[in-house]
Amino acid sequence: MQLDAIVIGAGQAGPPLAGRLTGAGMKVALIERALFGGTCVNTGCTPTKTMIASARTAHVARRARDYGVLVDGAVTVDMARVKARADGVAARSREGVERWLRGMPGCTVLRGHAAFESPTQVRVGGEVLSAPRIFINVGGRASVPRMPGVGEVPHLDNSSILALDRVPEHLVVVGGSYVGLEFAQMFRRFGAAVTIVEMLPRLIPREDAEISAAIEEILRGEGIALRTSAKCIALVPHARGASVSLDCADGEPLVVGSHVLLAVGRRPNTDDLALDRAGVATDARGFITVDDTLATNVPGIWALGDCNGRGAFTHTAYNDFEIVAANLLDGASRRVSERVPAYALYIDPPLGRAGMTETEARATGRPLLVGSRPMTRVSRAVEKGETQGLMKVIADARTREILGAAILGVDGDEAIHGVLDMMSAHATIDVYRRAVPIHPTVSELIPTVLGEMKPAPPPG
Ligand SMILES: Cc1cc2nc3c(=O)[nH]c(=O)nc-3n(C[C@H](O)[C@H](O)[C@H](O)COP(=O)(O)OP(=O)(O)OC[C@H]3O[C@@H](n4cnc5c(N)ncnc54)[C@H](O)[C@@H]3O)c2cc1C
Repeated sequence: MQLDAIVIGAGQAGPPLAGRLTGAGMKVALIERALFGGTCVNTGCTPTKTMIASARTAHVARRARDYGVLVDGAVTVDMARVKARADGVAARSREGVERWLRGMPGCTVLRGHAAFESPTQVRVGGEVLSAPRIFINVGGRASVPRMPGVGEVPHLDNSSILALDRVPEHLVVVGGSYVGLEFAQMFRRFGAAVTIVEMLPRLIPREDAEISAAIEEILRGEGIALRTSAKCIALVPHARGASVSLDCADGEPLVVGSHVLLAVGRRPNTDDLALDRAGVATDARGFITVDDTLATNVPGIWALGDCNGRGAFTHTAYNDFEIVAANLLDGASRRVSERVPAYALYIDPPLGRAGMTETEARATGRPLLVGSRPMTRVSRAVEKGETQGLMKVIADARTREILGAAILGVDGDEAIHGVLDMMSAHATIDVYRRAVPIHPTVSELIPTVLGEMKPAPPPG
C-alpha cells in the first residue's frame, strides 16, 4: 500500500495528527495493535481519575460530620461498581477515538503490530505499507524491575490493578512516585490497608523536600504506612499473598500484604518496532532520539509522545502533535524546548506543578526570589475545610520571570494554570501582581505570594 504518511499508534498524538494530515489532503494509514486511545484512555489518566473521584466521594462521606452532615451507617465501597464506572468512562472514550478514526476521510485504520521493514516501509501482519513520512506514537508500558522474587510472586501493574473487583486486604505499593501514590491513596480510601515502599529517603524525590514532606503527612494522616529508604527491596512468597522485604535502616524488615503493586517507572514500546531496519537511533533506555522538532535521525521519521522521552504526559504527547503538525503543515518553526514543563499529581488534595523546583532553579546559579504560603492561610481552603498543603513560587530575581511553582492543596491542579499561563507568556511577577483574581479562590493568593517573595538564601 503506497501512502503519503503512516502513523504507528493511536495514543494521544497519532489520532489528531492523522486528522491534520488527512485534512491537508494526504492519504494516511494509522496502525493500532491494542486499544484505541492508548495508555491515557485505557489504563492511565481516564480510569485512574475516574476511580480517584469514587475514592474522594468515600473520603468526603466519612468526613461528612465535620460539615454538619449526618450519614447514617458506615461508608463502604462496592469495588465492582467503582470498576464498572471506570470501565464505562474509558470505554466511551476509546470508542469515540475509534469511531473518529474510522470515519476520517483519507485515513485507513489497520489493526495489528507494526514494525519497520526499511526507512520508508512498515509491516503489519502480511501487509507492507510505504510512505515518505512515518510518525511513531507507540507510548510505553510499566517496567518490571529486575528485583529478586519478581518471577515467583504474583504482582500487579497499572493495568492489571484496574481489573480488581474486590478491595484488597493489604496493598503493598512498591514505588513512591506519581503512579504509586495515586493508587495508594485511592485504595486506602476504598478501605484497604496500604503500605508504600520506596527505595529513596523520601517520597516523590523529584519535588522539593518540603513538598515531599507535606505529601507524606497527607498520606500518613489517612493511615497509609510509609517505608522509605528501603534499600534492598525483594518480593517473597507468603501464605497470605506476598511479602516485600525491605532491609530498611529501621523498622520491620518485611511487610506482608495480600497484593503487591509495582509502580517503579515506565519503559518505551520501542523494543519490538525493528527500528534497526530503519536506522532510527534510541538512547540506552530505548527512548527514540529526537531533535527539538521531534525529528529522528532518519529524515522523514518523527517520534511523538512518551516514546521520545521528552515528556511522560498526555498533554506533552498532544503538544508533540501540535508542534509536528504546525511545522509540517503551517510553515511554523515550533520547538519542544519552548514548552513549560507542567503536570499534576492527583492525590487529594492534588499537587499542580509548573516549571522548575527550587532545587532545579538553584542549580542554575541565578539569584532567586521564593515565596510560599500554607493552605491554612487560603480562605477558600479554610471554607472548604481542606487546608492541607502549601503553595510556593520561585522567580528569577534579575528578570523577575517566574521559574516554577508548586500548588499542593485543594484545587491545586486548576490554580497552577494561572502560573503556567504567565510563564508561557514570559510575563513577570509584576504583571501577575496587577491581575485582579476572583474571591474566594485558591488562585487569588498567587499574586499575594508574589508580593511577599524573599531572596533565596545562598546554597549550603
Ligand atoms: C496509571 C497512569 C496514570 C496516568 N495519569 C496521567 C494523568 O493524569 N495525566 C497525564 O497527563 N498523563 C498521565 N499518564 C501518562 C499518560 O497516560 C501518557 O503520558 C500518555 O498516554 C502518552 O501518550 P502516547 O500517545 O505517547 O502513548 P500511548 O497513550 O501509550 O499510546 C501508544 C499506542 O501505541 C500502540 N502501539 C505501541 N506499539 C505499537 C506497534 N508496534 N504497532 C501498533 N501499535 C502500537 C499502543 O497499543 C498504544 O495504543 C498516566 C499514566 C499511567 C500509567
